[in-house]
Amino acid sequence: MELVLGGSDWELQGNVWVRRRRVGPLDNAAYLVACPETGQAVLIDAANDAGELIAAADGLELVAVLETHGHWDHWQALAEVSATFPSAYVAAHPDDLEMFPPPPPGHHLSDGEGIEFGHRRLRVLHTPGHTPGSVCFLAEGVVFTGDTLFPGGPGSTRPPQGDFATILDSIESRLFPLPPETVVFPGHGDSTTIGQERPFLGAWRARGW
Ligand SMILES: [Zn+2]
Ligand SMILES: [Zn+2]
Repeated sequence: MELVLGGSDWELQGNVWVRRRRVGPLDNAAYLVACPETGQAVLIDAANDAGELIAAADGLELVAVLETHGHWDHWQALAEVSATFPSAYVAAHPDDLEMFPPPPPGHHLSDGEGIEFGHRRLRVLHTPGHTPGSVCFLAEGVVFTGDTLFPGGPGSTRPPQGDFATILDSIESRLFPLPPETVVFPGHGDSTTIGQERPFLGAWRARGW
């Protein structure tokens, strides 16, 4: 049976449904990603405004909360969302675990791992540089990049967690080999595509940020 997802703010991207919520003082983008056939879904970044994220997941079976990295603005709603969906596991890369409030995420992501929800899957790409444990989540035709890649350049690489050479390496070796039409959903702001950003790699390297 095909799930009917109500509301006009769901978009079909590749083979998954995506619903974006912009939340919190830093205009974080949180994403519900759902399997259209089963209604199983994951939430990428329980960033803020827990009530809004919980409402956006109404009618879905949330199987996991996936954290792109450990910066505070990406987990303000984590405790409340977890309490509301106790069967959903919380996942982050081990290299960022110490940045989370207690209790730390119980599922430790590894590069190449597949996150299953219904008949769909997201692949974990470890893309350090913004933070040591930054990850991206790749589905067919769409990638969720957290603060690793935005329209117009890489995320910030402020010390002590950030490193500019490392983030450029991650972008060049893990993201830019993706097909140019791949849609990029970042952790703040608007979407872009791999093909739109790839020509600027040299300019970013030259400017140094
Ligand atoms: Zn960040
Ligand atoms: Zn951020």
